[in-house]
Amino acid sequence: MNRLQERAFLNRLEELRGPVPARPHDARAIAALAANPGCARRSVMDAAGIDKDRTARHVGFPAPFGQSQFAITRGNGFEALVKENGCAELLRVLRELLGLPIPQVGYRDVESVGSHLRHSHTRALIDHAAREEEGTAVFYDHPLFSLEIAGHTSYLEPDVVAFQVGGRFHIVEIKSFALVDGQAEPEKVAAAARQAAVYVLALRTLLADLGHDPERVSHDVVLICPENFANRPAGALVDVRKQLAVLTRQLTRMTRVEHLLSGLPEGLTFDLAPGEDGTPTRSAEELAEALRRVPARYAPDCLATCDMCMFCRDEARGCGSTELLGRQVRDQLGGVSRVSEALGLAEGTLEPAEGQEEIAELLRLANRLREESLR
Ligand code: SF4
Repeated sequence: MNRLQERAFLNRLEELRGPVPARPHDARAIAALAANPGCARRSVMDAAGIDKDRTARHVGFPAPFGQSQFAITRGNGFEALVKENGCAELLRVLRELLGLPIPQVGYRDVESVGSHLRHSHTRALIDHAAREEEGTAVFYDHPLFSLEIAGHTSYLEPDVVAFQVGGRFHIVEIKSFALVDGQAEPEKVAAAARQAAVYVLALRTLLADLGHDPERVSHDVVLICPENFANRPAGALVDVRKQLAVLTRQLTRMTRVEHLLSGLPEGLTFDLAPGEDGTPTRSAEELAEALRRVPARYAPDCLATCDMCMFCRDEARGCGSTELLGRQVRDQLGGVSRVSEALGLAEGTLEPAEGQEEIAELLRLANRLREESLR
């Protein structure tokens, strides 16, 4: 992209956002990119830095996210326990998990310099550690990483610790869901892995930026959870290579969001400019109409990852989209995009279009089996 094209691209994103500041992406929002990479609606909104939470509230479909106060207090208490006395408990778990031969590990609280210097201090500490020949073992608490997303710098404030030993860095993710006999709920582990992958990518980017080998950040993240519902911390290594690959692909795609923008109607905007009372001046109907003009790719896992989920689910329901049935079913249905179309093919009331013969046959067979089992 030359400078003129770049300016036009940024202008278009600003027009989409309206006269409000771009919302920085937090790790959860970035991690969600890896959860549903094919959605144009979210790609455009994220690239333009649009506040999806506020948008969803304004159109009357707030996301059902948010932890209870009890869960937040429990999470904070567990994190404090893992980190107390210079991460002593964490060191015990890492000794068991990584077989660390070292008796002592240094502890640096990056926050000690004041919040405005945290990012530069993180950089300086990581640079220093990466240059050290001996590669001493150190925990870095409250680091502040950054990632460029479609021209905006997003700062990531993990409650995680980056741990460095023998020249290798590990991301440590502390979660308060339980590990029972070394296992946790797969969806929770998957969400934690996506989030940790964002930190791995940010730390790799930082190392590359400083002229070091980014591969010195391990793709195995250390997940720390309470063991068997007690408060004793236990750990597991989680390989996040797959999540990293999806995330990198999706971030590259976001920087190439121009082709999505070129297909949008002239003058389209998701403007949320507030009036004197702080609420958006634009009507909810007008905003909802603008949203519907960018294609979405709803899937049930949106309910756990994207602020727009209730709006998109309602829309998918309204048009009987097969997306509602989940990615696996949708993929098996090939090009059949409506539930009514699938039913028509199954019941034989609809002739299969060219290329739909195979899926129509399978649907008819499934329908026959269903009827037989109901007899
Ligand atoms: S909730 Fe909507 S906007 Fe968000 S990823 Fe799913 S389909 Fe896309």
